[in-house]
Amino acid sequence: MTIQTVKSFAAGQWIDVDDAARDIRSAVTGDIIARAGNSALDTAAMLDYARTKGGPALRAMTFHQRAKMLKALAQHLGQHKQKLYDISFATGATQKDHLIDIDGGIGTMFVFASKGRREMPDAHVYLDGNVEQLSRSGTFLGQHICTSLQGVAVHINAFNFPVWGMLEKLAPTLLAGVPAIVKPATASCYVTEMAVQIMLDSGLLPDGALQLVSGGLGDMLDRLSNQDVVSFTGSADTALKLRSAPHILSNSIRFIAEQDSLNASILGPDAGPGTPEFDLFVKEVSREMTTKAGQKCTAIRRILAPEALVQPVIEALGKALAKITIGDPRAEATRMGALVSAGQKQDVLEKAAIIGQEAERVIGDPDKFEVIGADADAGAFVPPMLFHCADPDGARHVHEVEAFGPVSTIMPYKDVDHAVSLVNRGQGSLVASVITHDAAVARQVALGAGAFHGRLYFNNRDSMKESTGHGSPLPHMVHGGPGRAGGGEEMGGVRGVMHYMQRTAIQGSPDILTAIGQKWVPGAQEITEQDHPFKRTFHELALGETFKTPSREILLEDIEKFAHFTGDTFYAHMDQDAAARNPFFPGRVAHGYLLLSFAAGLFVQPDEGPVLANTGLDNLRFLKPVEAGDSIKVRLSVKHKTPRNEDYGEVRWHVSVTNLQDEMVAEYELLTMNAYAHPEKQ
Ligand code: NDP
Repeated sequence: MTIQTVKSFAAGQWIDVDDAARDIRSAVTGDIIARAGNSALDTAAMLDYARTKGGPALRAMTFHQRAKMLKALAQHLGQHKQKLYDISFATGATQKDHLIDIDGGIGTMFVFASKGRREMPDAHVYLDGNVEQLSRSGTFLGQHICTSLQGVAVHINAFNFPVWGMLEKLAPTLLAGVPAIVKPATASCYVTEMAVQIMLDSGLLPDGALQLVSGGLGDMLDRLSNQDVVSFTGSADTALKLRSAPHILSNSIRFIAEQDSLNASILGPDAGPGTPEFDLFVKEVSREMTTKAGQKCTAIRRILAPEALVQPVIEALGKALAKITIGDPRAEATRMGALVSAGQKQDVLEKAAIIGQEAERVIGDPDKFEVIGADADAGAFVPPMLFHCADPDGARHVHEVEAFGPVSTIMPYKDVDHAVSLVNRGQGSLVASVITHDAAVARQVALGAGAFHGRLYFNNRDSMKESTGHGSPLPHMVHGGPGRAGGGEEMGGVRGVMHYMQRTAIQGSPDILTAIGQKWVPGAQEITEQDHPFKRTFHELALGETFKTPSREILLEDIEKFAHFTGDTFYAHMDQDAAARNPFFPGRVAHGYLLLSFAAGLFVQPDEGPVLANTGLDNLRFLKPVEAGDSIKVRLSVKHKTPRNEDYGEVRWHVSVTNLQDEMVAEYELLTMNAYAHPEKQ
C-alpha cells in the first residue's frame, strides 16, 4: 500500500514531507496511510508572502468582489466534493458525517458569499453604526469604521472537521480581505490538503491568499505581529499554552479560541412520554451522541431530565442507540464510524472511566460491542455510552470532563432553576438546548443560562420539522462560548468578519466622513445638477447630488380628502378639540403619510428613465406636525450606492422634508433601484 505524503503549500510552492514527518493511521484499519510535516518550513517566508502578496491583492478588492470569489470557490468545491468524500472515510467518518463536514463547509462559504453581497458595501470600508453628533451644529461628527487587518490569519484547526473547520474560518477571513495560513490537525490533514489543492487549482484566489501547513507550525506563532490573528479550535490545554505565550501576550495578538465544552440538553418539565417533545428529545440526543462518533465540539455531553423522567429517557435512548450499527464507515449498514485515531480512543476511554467514578454506565460496553466490516481492535471503534449520575449536585467530573466521543451522562433535575444551575456548572459552553413547548420555561432558561452559553437552541413540535439540530453551528449565528469553551466567537454573519478587521473611531467634518465612508453625511458638500437626478443612471449619479423642490401648501381640504380616501380618520386629523387635547399636536394636523405622498409628488420625475422601482424606505421620523396652511418642501440627496446585479443597483437617498421656517418635519432614507443604462425606447 502506498503511503501518501501530505504536503504544505508555502510561499507559492508545494513542499514535501521531510524525515521529521509524522505517521498518520487510518481510523478504520489502524494502518499507516500518510505522513505529514516538514521541520524546515520557512515560516518567515510564508508570513511575508501572505503579508506582501495575498494581503494587498485581497485588500484591493471590495467586499462584493471578495464575496463573488467566495461563491465561485464554494461552487468549485461543490463540483469536486466526491474526491473529498472518498478520502474522508479513512478518518472514521460515514457518508452522513461527510455531509456535515464537506457539504456543511461549502454551505457555510455560500452563506458568507451571500451576506457579503447583501449586508456589506461594494467598498473597502465597513461602517459600524450610525454617525454620532459630536457638535451642536453638525460640523464635527463621529463614525466608527472597520478596515482590513494588514497581517495574516493563522487558523489552527481540530481533527474532527477537516473541511468545515477550515472553511468556517476561511470564508469570513477572505471576506475581510485578510490572507490565511491554515494548519489542520495532523490526524486528518490529508483531507484538508485536498480541499486546499482544489481551491488553489481553481485559480480563483490571488497569490498568497491561502497557504497550508501540514504537520507542525514550527516557530510561526513567534513571528506574528499586532496585525495578525490566531484562530484556534482544539483542546483547552493547547489553547492555554498557545495563547499565553509571551510573544502573543506582549504584542496583543488577537487569539480566538474555541475549545472543550460540556454542552447540555434539557428535557422540559412539560415534555413527558407521549408528547412530541419527548420523542424529539430522544432523537436529538441519540443523533448528537453518535454523529461523527460524538467527536463534535457541540455534541450533547450532559442530558438533564426531570427526576421522574430519567428512567423513561434511559429506556427510550436504549432503544434508539441499539439501532446504531458500528463499523466500517464505507459500509451502507453502518450508522456510526470510528474515532479519528487509537490515541483518541484511548483518551475517550480514560475520560469515560473518570466520569464512571461518579456515574453508572447504563448503556454501552466498550469491551463488548459489535463492529461490522472492520476489525474492532485495529480500528478506533467505541460504542455509544450513556452514564447515569444520580447526584449531579455532588458530582464534579460529569460537569468538567469532556470525553470527545459518543459519551453522555444523564442526570435528574428538580425544577427549572435547578436545571439552569446544573447547565451552568459547565462553566461556559458552546450550546445548550431545551426541548419544551412551554415558552415560559424557555424564557427562564434564557435568562438564567444565556450568560454561560454562546448559543441556546429551543425546539418543540412547532419547529421540529425545520429545525437545524442542537449540534449544527450555522454561519448566520455565532459559534463559540464563554469560559471553558474558550471565550471566542466565530461566524455569526458579518460579526465573524469583524474578527479580521480593525474598528476605528473616525472624527471629522461631514465632508471628511463622506469621503472615508463613501456614504454622504448631511452637512457634506451638495452637488446640484441642471437636470433631475432621476434622469441619470446608477453610475452617473454622484454621492451628495441633491435635488431641491419648490414648496407646496397643505390645505384643510387635502387633509379631509386624504382621510376619507384612505380611511385614516384618526381624531388628530379630523377633530380640532380632541387634537388640541393631545400633547403632541397644536390642533388638527396633516397625516404623516400625506406628507410622504406629497413629498413624492414634489420630487418624482415621472418620465420613463433609469429609476426602476421604489423598493423601500428606512429610518422614517416625523419630527414636527404640519397644520393646514403650512407648506412643505423636499431635499433629496444621493447618500449611498450599492450595485445589486449586472443590470441595476440600489440608490439610498437622504430625504428631508421641511416647512417654510426651514424646520425639519420629516426625515427618511428612500431606496430606489436604478438601472446602469438608460431605457431603450422603441
Ligand atoms: P489539540 O489541542 O491537541 O490540537 C488542536 C490543534 O492544535 C491541532 O491542529 C494541533 O496540531 C494543534 N497544535 C497542537 N499543539 C500545537 C502547538 N504547540 N503549536 C501549534 N499548534 C498546535 O487537540 P486535538 O485535536 O488533538 O484534540 C484533543 C482534544 O481536544 C479532544 O479529545 C477534545 O477533547 C478536544 N477538542 C475539542 C474541540 C472543541 O471544539 N470543543 C474540537 C476538537 C478537539 P497537531 O494535530 O498537528 O498536533
